[in-house]
Amino acid sequence: LSPVPSDIEISRAQTPKAVDILAKEIGLLADEIEIYGKSKAKVRLSLLERLKDQADGKYVLVAGITPTPLGEGKSTVTIGLVQALTAHLNVNSFACLRQPSQGPTFGVKGGAAGGGYAQVIPMEEFNLHLTGDIHAITAANNLLAAAIDTRILHENTQTDKALYNRLVASVNGVREFSKIQLARLKKLGINKTDPSALTEEEMRKFARLDIDPSTITWQRVMDTNDRFLRKITIGQGNTEKGFSRQAQFDIAVASEVMAVLALTDSLTDMKERLGRMVVASDRNGQPVTTGDLGVTGALTVLMKDAIKPNLMQTLEGTPVFVHAGPFANIAHGNSSVLADKIALKLVGEEGYVVTEAGFGADIGMEKFFNIKCRASGLVPSVVVLVATVRALKMHGGGPSVTAGVPLKKEYTEENLQLVADGCCNLEKQIQIAQLFGVPVVVALNVFRTDTRAEIDLVCELAKRAGAFNAVPCYHWSIGGKGSVDLAQAVREAASKKSRFQFLYDVQLPIVEKIRTIAQAVYGAEDIELSPEAQSKIDRYTEQGFGNLPICMAKTHLSLSHQPDKKGVPKDFVLPISDVRASIGAGFIYPLVGTRY
Ligand code: ADP
Repeated sequence: LSPVPSDIEISRAQTPKAVDILAKEIGLLADEIEIYGKSKAKVRLSLLERLKDQADGKYVLVAGITPTPLGEGKSTVTIGLVQALTAHLNVNSFACLRQPSQGPTFGVKGGAAGGGYAQVIPMEEFNLHLTGDIHAITAANNLLAAAIDTRILHENTQTDKALYNRLVASVNGVREFSKIQLARLKKLGINKTDPSALTEEEMRKFARLDIDPSTITWQRVMDTNDRFLRKITIGQGNTEKGFSRQAQFDIAVASEVMAVLALTDSLTDMKERLGRMVVASDRNGQPVTTGDLGVTGALTVLMKDAIKPNLMQTLEGTPVFVHAGPFANIAHGNSSVLADKIALKLVGEEGYVVTEAGFGADIGMEKFFNIKCRASGLVPSVVVLVATVRALKMHGGGPSVTAGVPLKKEYTEENLQLVADGCCNLEKQIQIAQLFGVPVVVALNVFRTDTRAEIDLVCELAKRAGAFNAVPCYHWSIGGKGSVDLAQAVREAASKKSRFQFLYDVQLPIVEKIRTIAQAVYGAEDIELSPEAQSKIDRYTEQGFGNLPICMAKTHLSLSHQPDKKGVPKDFVLPISDVRASIGAGFIYPLVGTRY
């Protein structure tokens, strides 16, 4: 239709097929799905066992050039591409997307179901609640937060014996250590299995974590941007007097539990990762974990359904998994490993799984390769790099683009010079993908105001910069048939053998890994560590966490740390203000810039 109706009008005009019919179409057995309402279902992990001998399909990553604050259409391209593959070329495909957070959904950015005639439906169900995974994460996260403060209170108000008796529960009148407690005893060097055999000193060691409250890194979370909870004082009740401390609420999807969900590949692995999460240090500087607090089992049971991917569909009835949505700054910004693994089996050897990396390729794609693919062992076949004429014009020196403000005439009228000048950012992002040995297809997401000459110029320059191919896409205005050329180009690129490689060896020292990303990916001269960052790196290395991959928390609005530096910034030193760790998820995250 012209003009294209609003996203919500398009979404509501299409009735989704019943999810059990969709499940049957893609080869799921009746007892492998758990239906939520009419158009959503969870898929059981037992499927992986049934299909373990099935060869995987091709694995396609959609990433983007450095975007404007409006977003350049990665989700829309992802959905348009699978609609083209399955509904128009009759090739099996699956889109694997992140579940959006309520924060951005109710903010300037809006939901993340795609747009125009390339959407996941029903939009409201996709954007809000889904099957409750984010609520489960909130519950698990906050249970752990409560356990930390309660433990500090109890350790300070109870005798060693009383504490010990509280911790070692009695089952049918018989005291027994749980498996997790036995592991903790072992860690403490106490090789006893009978709770009554511990000496007083051993009981004290076992019962007291001696958490240093000033080192607590675990925060409470909720799925609302509530700025008045960003800094709070907890422990104001009469019985908690003396245990007040400054704390904060983060958005739920920033919880490490979300990053764990995104990177895990089984229930057992999720339990281990949840147990390894470090929440504070004790007064000797040793890390204190979920396992030490004895709540790993409780967190795991709260997450037992959230671990199953959620099945939905596109406007053209093709299958989509929506699963996990870690942030792309303090986490790796990719949907779940499990959804990708299951989808790769379901599409079969000739099929395609298309997934999306948050932010620009310098962040989302780099983390997809170095963190997600390292964790999953999956090998990507093709990168689809999304570009828009408007973002390229911005990189070429066009006026700033602000959400909610109408675009200036440079963006609505033909301007080949701005496009040509801005293609440096596209060229750099192509080169970044090539560092990993994966072929790049540039998808130019066409807007109504783009001219033929501008479109041809971008495709020409992209190919000259080393892209395997570059094609304009029209899925937003006409659906999957507008991305058939993209789908053909992806199929051709995927037929080449992937020469995928990681950018760095995880065994390198933390500083070397950060420097490699800063120089090879962002184009920085060097890095500059604050004293705080250096001392954290020393501490993590000492604690044995030096061999984890790196997850840079950097602005997505520039290749550098300064959001107003567009194009390809040069001659800059990347400041690292602090370094933090998500040990359960399995990465170290440096905070880039000085604003943290
Ligand atoms: P990203 O995933 O890169 O953040 P989205 O796919 O969510 O971007 O798109 C951002 C917004 O831009 C959405 O509201 C979408 O409907 C809109 N959009 C995307 N492509 C087009 C297009 N070709 N024409 C008009 N609007 C578009």
